[in-house]
Amino acid sequence: MKDEKPPKNGTDVKTYAVIALGCSIGLSAVFCVVAAVNGYWIEFGICLAIAVVLFIVTCPLAYEGDVYECPHCGRKFRVNFYIVLFTNGKLKTSDDNGEQVKYAKLKCSDCGTKDLCKRL
Ligand SMILES: [Zn+2]
Repeated sequence: MKDEKPPKNGTDVKTYAVIALGCSIGLSAVFCVVAAVNGYWIEFGICLAIAVVLFIVTCPLAYEGDVYECPHCGRKFRVNFYIVLFTNGKLKTSDDNGEQVKYAKLKCSDCGTKDLCKRL
């Protein structure tokens, strides 16, 4: 069993849903391997399909609540998960508290400037 980190402040239902879905993906993957090893190819296909569907559902959910702030006009906006996935995101360490802050190169929905926006 892995040691689970204590939940951070602000952990909500969505976070638990993402964790639960993540575990389900893991279980599906394990069943997938077991089925393949034993030659149950129909079961293998079913488990693989379940794992893929859960993965597609979980990824946008994990990023759904992310709000980014435009460095030019200060507007806070939500972005589609798939935009963040394929953008040049990078992690920076902020000076004041040493926490890792994620930036993503996004187009502001208000002023239209494309720049590194800070994830809030
Ligand atoms: Zn802006």
